[in-house]
Amino acid sequence: MQFPKINLHIHSNYSDGRNSIKQIVKKSLKLGLDFIAISDHYTNSWKAGIIPTLNSIDKISDYLDEISNCQNYLKENNKKLVLYKGIEVDISSSERYIKKFVQIDQFDLVLIEYLQTPESIAFIKNIIRYWKNSITNRDDFPILGLAHFDPFYFLHGNLEILIEFLKNYNIYFEFNSSYPQCYSSRNTQFFEKLREHKIPVAIGCDSHNLLSLNDIEEPLEMIRYYELESNYKILISILKNSL
Ligand SMILES: [Zn+2]
Repeated sequence: MQFPKINLHIHSNYSDGRNSIKQIVKKSLKLGLDFIAISDHYTNSWKAGIIPTLNSIDKISDYLDEISNCQNYLKENNKKLVLYKGIEVDISSSERYIKKFVQIDQFDLVLIEYLQTPESIAFIKNIIRYWKNSITNRDDFPILGLAHFDPFYFLHGNLEILIEFLKNYNIYFEFNSSYPQCYSSRNTQFFEKLREHKIPVAIGCDSHNLLSLNDIEEPLEMIRYYELESNYKILISILKNSL
C-alpha cells in the first residue's frame, strides 16, 4: 500500500532553518506531502549560544500566528496537506526554562531531544506532569515524540524502563533521515519491542532547508525492514484524530 507522506521535524528561520514557514508550506504542497510539522528549537543549553531559538513569549506568539495563518490557508483551500504547530524541546535545558515559555496547549506536537539516560526519563516525566496540570482541557494536550533518539543508550539494562515510558506516556519514535545511526541494526532489539508494544513510529527529516523536506524514502524503507508498518499506521491515525 501507499503510505501517507509525513515529515514531522522541520526547522524554519524562527530557529536554525533557512526558510520561512510560508516557503516550507508552499514547497510541501508541491512535493505532495500529507502531514508536516514545523518544530523549531527551544533550549537554554549550550545550543542557545550558537543558534537562534524560540526564546521569548513574543517570538513564540509570532511563530504560532504564522503557522496558524498557513493552517487557515490550507483549510480554506481544501488542501490535503496538514500542518502542525510543533516545537523541539531540548531536555538538557533547565527545568525552570522549559516551564517558562512553553504554553503546552498552544502546540499540536512536541519533540523531545537529547533523551539519553534513565535520569532524563524522570526529568521529562516531571515536565509532562507539569504540562498536564497546566491545561484545562485534556484534548488540548499535544502529541509527543522523541527527536533523533538513539535507543543504544538504553539497550543494556534499561530497555524495559524506556519501553514502559514510551507506552505509558504515548510517545512516538522518530525515524530521522538526518540521523540514520539511530535506526541501525545494532538497535534491532529495541525495534522488536516497539513492534511488540505497538509504540507509534513517525518520520522526521530534521529539515533545515527545502531540499530535505521530502527525504522520507529511507526512513520508510527502514520501517518496512523492521516490520513496523502497523506502528506507522497507529501514528497516522493519531495524527488524523488530532485534527
Ligand atoms: Zn531538530
